[in-house]
Amino acid sequence: MRWYQFSAEETAKKTGSDPQKGLATKEVTQRLKRDGRNEWKEEKSASQLALFLGQFKDFMVLVLLAATVISGILGEYIDSIAILLIVFLNALIGFFQERNAEKSLSKLKELNAPMARVLRDGQWSRVSSAELVMGDIVSLTAGDRVPADLRLIAVTSLETEESALTGESLPVAKMTEPLNKEQLGPQDQVNIAFMSSLVTRGNGTGIVIGTGSNTAVGQIAELLIDTKRKQTPLEKRLEKLGKVLIVIALLLTALTVLAGVYRGNPLYDMLLAGVSLAVAVIPEGLPAIVTVALSLGVQRMIKQKAIVRRLSAVETLGSATVICSDKTGTLTENQMTVKEIFLSGNSYTVTGSGYDPSGGFYRGGKESNDKALIRFLRYGVLASHAKMIRKKKRWLIDGDPTEGALVVAGKKAGLDADKLTDYEFVHEVPFDSKRKRMTVLIRTPEGKLVAITKGAPDVLIDKAVYEEVGTDKKPLAAKDKKVLYEAVDQMAAKALRTIAVCIREFPAGYEPKEEELEQNMTFIGLNGLIDPPRQEAKDAIIDCRKAGIKTVMITGDHVKTAAAIAKMLHILPAGGKVVEGKDLDRMSDEELRTEVDSMYVFARVTPEHKLRIVQALQHVGHIVAMTGDGVNDAPAIKASDIGISMGITGTDVAKEASGLVLMDDNFATIKAAIKEGRTIYSNIRKFVRYLLASNVGEILVMLFAMILALPMPLVPIQILWVNLVTDGLPAIALGMDKAEDEVMKQKPRHPNEGVFARGLGTKIVTRGILIGSVTIIAFMLMYQGDPDNLIYAQTTAFTTLVMAQLIHVFDCRSEKSVFARNPLGNIWLIGAVLISMILLLAVIYITPLQPIFHTTDLLLRDWLLIMGLSAVPTVLFGFMKK
Ligand code: ATP
Repeated sequence: MRWYQFSAEETAKKTGSDPQKGLATKEVTQRLKRDGRNEWKEEKSASQLALFLGQFKDFMVLVLLAATVISGILGEYIDSIAILLIVFLNALIGFFQERNAEKSLSKLKELNAPMARVLRDGQWSRVSSAELVMGDIVSLTAGDRVPADLRLIAVTSLETEESALTGESLPVAKMTEPLNKEQLGPQDQVNIAFMSSLVTRGNGTGIVIGTGSNTAVGQIAELLIDTKRKQTPLEKRLEKLGKVLIVIALLLTALTVLAGVYRGNPLYDMLLAGVSLAVAVIPEGLPAIVTVALSLGVQRMIKQKAIVRRLSAVETLGSATVICSDKTGTLTENQMTVKEIFLSGNSYTVTGSGYDPSGGFYRGGKESNDKALIRFLRYGVLASHAKMIRKKKRWLIDGDPTEGALVVAGKKAGLDADKLTDYEFVHEVPFDSKRKRMTVLIRTPEGKLVAITKGAPDVLIDKAVYEEVGTDKKPLAAKDKKVLYEAVDQMAAKALRTIAVCIREFPAGYEPKEEELEQNMTFIGLNGLIDPPRQEAKDAIIDCRKAGIKTVMITGDHVKTAAAIAKMLHILPAGGKVVEGKDLDRMSDEELRTEVDSMYVFARVTPEHKLRIVQALQHVGHIVAMTGDGVNDAPAIKASDIGISMGITGTDVAKEASGLVLMDDNFATIKAAIKEGRTIYSNIRKFVRYLLASNVGEILVMLFAMILALPMPLVPIQILWVNLVTDGLPAIALGMDKAEDEVMKQKPRHPNEGVFARGLGTKIVTRGILIGSVTIIAFMLMYQGDPDNLIYAQTTAFTTLVMAQLIHVFDCRSEKSVFARNPLGNIWLIGAVLISMILLLAVIYITPLQPIFHTTDLLLRDWLLIMGLSAVPTVLFGFMKK
């Protein structure tokens, strides 16, 4: 017998489970030990040794190893060994940096791990899907990825899409009855929900019958895993740049050697010069530092409650020009409270706030609890799933906040959802944001069936045929509809979210079909709910505007409610357009594109509209960040440049489609993430500038020396020491720098801008020229044509180069001028510079190191000269402000 052939009870028995209480925690621990976690083996991540050896694969390292060999052949054994040591040290540093970076990036994977709603010890809670075991009772709702193979025991219009398993992309309707057939394929096992398939509609509950590699998809899962991290656009660009530099290095080397030998210089000298040049051109430390900066930035984002799912989102965030945000929950608190009720032409005000059920109903200033009101409130409660919970003296809601508000309103009139047990639930047509309504079919204590529909008033008023006035039911004529629309408008203008309630009663004994439930309905009344805008969202919207980013509200809510809230939040400027989904339907793509820049609020839209809005914005050149939470939002999230999903209310589907998850569903977190994204990018620019200026300086020193027929002012080992050791730490510290104040006052960066855009190339070259110049000057002043002075002059040049860089690093902190920022503002940088200086002193003054680094003791007056010269590039450009 196979699982689909068993009844729900038999399945519970065979798995040792209890559908009412679920498993006991102790049992879960034992089963987890016995069966293993609900996952399959991932491709093993690279072993530590492989990661270390990987450091030597780089082409630059090969160049260095070639240099070692050449030095060895030329008899410079100390140099060879020293270069080897530095290469080894670099590999070691690279290994540790990369290991930490990978570790922190893999933490992201944990944070992004899917969760499941499970019943254990009689309590529902959310646990990591990997911890599910055989026999667990799991609930599913639209938008979930099924977390294990489940034998379904309860379903409400449940449909799943199983294409990963069966190739069939049409959703399959699920049921609970056992199937009495042999040898059914997965596509026909309609009482099983398969792991990894997608819940497209409805909800349901099932018993776990298989986990990990014991699931249908687990058998083929190994084929689906892709664990490789993709490079971000900037990393790709820098890799390309690295390749170009290597080619330049090789050409320069070849040219130098050939030209030198042709001019009659000894081959030995020329080979050494060539090797020095090659080492000088290549920014050895750069790739590792980029990875480190990205991973540090990602960690900072986690602290701000933004979880990165795709590393490239970090960069794209800095380019966003438009944020399209959902209203409910992101721009508002998602703490809904019924404030007004409209019933039979009468208005009631409701007191109380939040989910606290204290408060009452007032009509014309007098407290009122009339029968019609109670009946209306009861419909609201019966058509809602949300549960009130009391935690630490606070009232909270488990479920949809809109429904929570209705349940709380009922409780204010003494209606307890748990005590309405004589009303039997029969069927449900679930809510979806396209239909904007939902219906439950209830059997009343008298045995009659009543369909209760609640949803967007404009949709329901349109569909309703009768209206209840007092105890009468009368046809709903056009003029009556007008009155109702006006009541809705009045509520909406006060920023209230409106929910209408309609019913249809069926004669006893009649079993209606699903499509009959929402036909011939009688309009009963209206709820007006307040959902206050988030104060921090307002501030964030204003900050975003200053940063050149427009905020657009996209909501399924009523146009007037949306507009009122948009005004409170400063989203809607004077003259800004508010459009409705039905307006969009009338517009062609062309028309939408020409108008989209003047549109700020999109109301009563469906997820399909979202996709059109994203595409129109992108067509006119915007970089679009789009939020979404629902099952149908995935296409728009995917199409946008930065898809953002909600950590709390978001469905698995929306999360999987997104590049960024907001742990707190809060708009202000998007702003924080954008700021962080911009900061990371500008920090990367800072150390690219820092490291490359050093390279330019080194190349020039070599070229000047060759032109002036001087001996090499720097030996390869010194250049390597500068590039890898003394420059490395300050570069990492730049990657941890705080944002400049300007970072959120500038326009978004163009996503296609090159590495050297916005003056970075000029800065690198100009600083590089000066660093090179002061170094060669220092060399010439000490050398004075006397070969006996060579080591002394080389030490001075080497020290000048390092010191010029260590001063220059402060210039790199700002795009403006070295004097624009407090030099002590980055404590890491101060530490890094101090360590670099100590390391420099070590290779100058520790006697055994002197022959290795070609150095000798320097005197105080030498230092005065060195400090004077090395400050020149930074101070000069500081005053020039260029
Ligand atoms: P967002 O602003 O994030 O798009 P929204 O809640 O305004 O969210 P939807 O969830 O699509 O948008 O809701 C659209 C309309 O459907 C609401 O204005 C409301 O009238 C109605 N509605 C929302 N939730 C429910 C519900 N649980 N039951 C019945 N009607 C609902």
